[in-house]
Amino acid sequence: MVKKTVLITGASRGIGSACAKVFAREGYNIILNFLSSESEALELAGELSKKGTEVLPFRADVSDFKQVKEMVEAGQRRFGKIDALICNAGISQQKLFTDITPEEWHRMMSVTVDAAFYCCQAVLPGMIRRQKGKIVLVSSIWGMVGASCEVHYSTAKAALIGLTKSLAKELGPSNINVNCVAPGIIETDMNSSLDSETREVLAQETPLGRFGTPWEIAEAVYFLASEKSDFITGQILSPNGGFVI
Ligand code: NAD
Repeated sequence: MVKKTVLITGASRGIGSACAKVFAREGYNIILNFLSSESEALELAGELSKKGTEVLPFRADVSDFKQVKEMVEAGQRRFGKIDALICNAGISQQKLFTDITPEEWHRMMSVTVDAAFYCCQAVLPGMIRRQKGKIVLVSSIWGMVGASCEVHYSTAKAALIGLTKSLAKELGPSNINVNCVAPGIIETDMNSSLDSETREVLAQETPLGRFGTPWEIAEAVYFLASEKSDFITGQILSPNGGFVI
């Protein structure tokens, strides 16, 4: 049987790295995108290769149209096709709305929204030709309910929800599923700057009483990329411990 291939953006650490491990476990070839963490990406690629997974680590800034195109072309050359796209790369920033600079605003939009546009557009011709494909965009609970002091982040993540719903309608007739995972508060580097008091409050505000793990998000992402979810499209799955109900 021909192996399936997944492209995961921002895959060197955190949720992206957990996704890479879960898809490897499920027998996928992996295009492992990273931006700056080359050593972490190569270490992960080595670890997965030892277990028999074919991995193409690829440095690309997902906010750059040309780099995304080159990455997708390289992945298609190496593996023949891309079956699933996971748009996971992201950045965060806590700031009062009134202090956000135009550069910071545009960077947030380009790493989140432009990147999803570029990645989806680049993989779609192959998926449409094969009349098969899975796209999962990683948003956030803050894109659903809004977050104070993270207005640009919340706005960009909300845009991914709009993109999910509209693209799902457009691509349904081509048998391509587009879904979104909107995690709650997850134990990754993105939250490493939180002080212990804030961590405590966030955990208490989560009905399940704790942060989620990258694995718990990766399993949700994998579910939406697997054939178990073939009749699910345009949906937002939010593993958040009950933080948003
Ligand atoms: P992380 O900071 O550990 O990982 C983000 C990854 O994206 C990093 O490897 C980073 O290098 C990469 N990246 C950033 N800009 C990039 C670019 N321009 N091109 C390519 N790669 C780039 O954080 P994480 O928690 O693993 O976040 C993964 C995704 O989950 C993000 O989209 C984030 O917004 C989302 N998310 C995280 C949480 C959380 O609590 N950690 C909650 C909700 C949503």
